[in-house]
Amino acid sequence: MTTLEHSIAAPRSLLIRGARVYDHDGDIDDPPQRDVLIEGTQIASVTAPDEDVQLKESIARRAAASPEADVIDARGKLVIPGFVNAHYHSYDVLAKGLLEDMPFDVWALHSQPAYFGRRSKAELRARTLLGALECLRNGITTLQDMNSLVPQDEETLDIILAAYAEIGIRVVFSIAVRDVAALDIAPFLPADVPESAMALIRGAPKNAREEIDFIERQIRRLAPLPPRLSWGLSPSGPQRSSRALLEGISDLARRHKLPVFTHVYETKAQTAKARAIYGEHGGSMIRHMADIGLLTRGTTIAHGVWLTQEEIALLAEHGGGIAHNPISNLKLKSGVAPMRAVMQAGVNVALGCDNCSCGDCQSMFQAMKMFCLLAAVTDPNPTGVRAADAIRAATLGGAHAMDRDGELGAIRRGMKADVVVIDLDDVAYQPLNSVARQLVFSETGRGVETTIVDGRVVMRERRITTIDEAALRSELASVMRTYRRDFARIAEANRLAIPYLLTANDQLKAHDVGLNRFVG
Ligand SMILES: [Zn+2]
Repeated sequence: MTTLEHSIAAPRSLLIRGARVYDHDGDIDDPPQRDVLIEGTQIASVTAPDEDVQLKESIARRAAASPEADVIDARGKLVIPGFVNAHYHSYDVLAKGLLEDMPFDVWALHSQPAYFGRRSKAELRARTLLGALECLRNGITTLQDMNSLVPQDEETLDIILAAYAEIGIRVVFSIAVRDVAALDIAPFLPADVPESAMALIRGAPKNAREEIDFIERQIRRLAPLPPRLSWGLSPSGPQRSSRALLEGISDLARRHKLPVFTHVYETKAQTAKARAIYGEHGGSMIRHMADIGLLTRGTTIAHGVWLTQEEIALLAEHGGGIAHNPISNLKLKSGVAPMRAVMQAGVNVALGCDNCSCGDCQSMFQAMKMFCLLAAVTDPNPTGVRAADAIRAATLGGAHAMDRDGELGAIRRGMKADVVVIDLDDVAYQPLNSVARQLVFSETGRGVETTIVDGRVVMRERRITTIDEAALRSELASVMRTYRRDFARIAEANRLAIPYLLTANDQLKAHDVGLNRFVG
């Protein structure tokens, strides 16, 4: 272990008393009062206030006398399992609020880390902490950070992982790799794109073997990772990867028993490209993945907007899941994902908030609400996508995607103590008619008061305990000078390419890929 510290000691007994505790299988509208006892990193018991009274009193006495034990008086509060943000990229946290009204490929040209080049250590650290901080404040206790390292080296990786270890969030970290460089829309561009613009669009290809070897070296070098950090694997997208790269990832996943996260069918351009390059599989990216052995129980595809009914069935058959990103799908004009069909097929659904530059907010409350509401876009009848389903997707669905069934996603004995305390005095819960529906349709994140990860209180009554927030704000102010300058340079260089990308995007509207994910 180099710069990574195993910084957080195992905590002690922590008793959360008197909260209403959300149970997916219990009364989701009017959850009963329970006491949650955490021992170390795990939930030791969830009991009624009149059970185990002597034990609870002895913990309360210990808490008064020493830091060995701790009690949170949570009467008038709600306890929920921490959310799992199943799709996120920390590289563009600083681009929050910089972009809007751009279709996917134009956005990519402004946000992908390759265009920004090497960043300072201070910037890498600040952006990682800021993204994690926003998550913790919104009750997200686990993140899947699919991160493109630029440069792809050990120092960059260590700075990011050390920041995560410091702030105390749980992270399934994957190094996003690709060896086919060009923007997805490149094959559909008009012929007259100037060479200077084409150079941006084309990018620089990489070597599949070197990408795989780098990942495996990091897995070995950093073993064991600090508590709360674990690995995932991420080819950026099948269409951005050679067969050799995808086979290499599939092999790593098998040998190291790691979950795989990859972008699939986010946009119509990607779908059109799949139709063109996967001829032997009927133009299906999903069949291509299945053929390579990359469509397994451990695979979660991000987006899946343009899946066909047949591909949804294939995904279900192989046990793969979806990380649904309703906000970024809309912000990047990607279309509406067929979530009703996905759920009816029994495919695991997790929810993600995606990049800070195409959602501008790490909020599972927004993602859950949009998940429920968007179903109506294509169907005027009851859709069967209800608040409780959204809460399951944001917790248990995410846990399944991270390969952490039975550990994350519920407040139950034996589960990891990833726990969020919400203030029911907040106006979102006045009057309290249904905890599940008000969590999904009324909560903005304002009610999140205390966040516990792995048994450790990382935010207590809205104060972050692990980092100095004021210091982070001043670090941000200093790194933003360079970041804004570089962003302005990139935006200026992109001006030449944008009209051609928009032309291609417009022409794709009439291109037949066998289905439509736009309304009307
Ligand atoms: Zn993504």
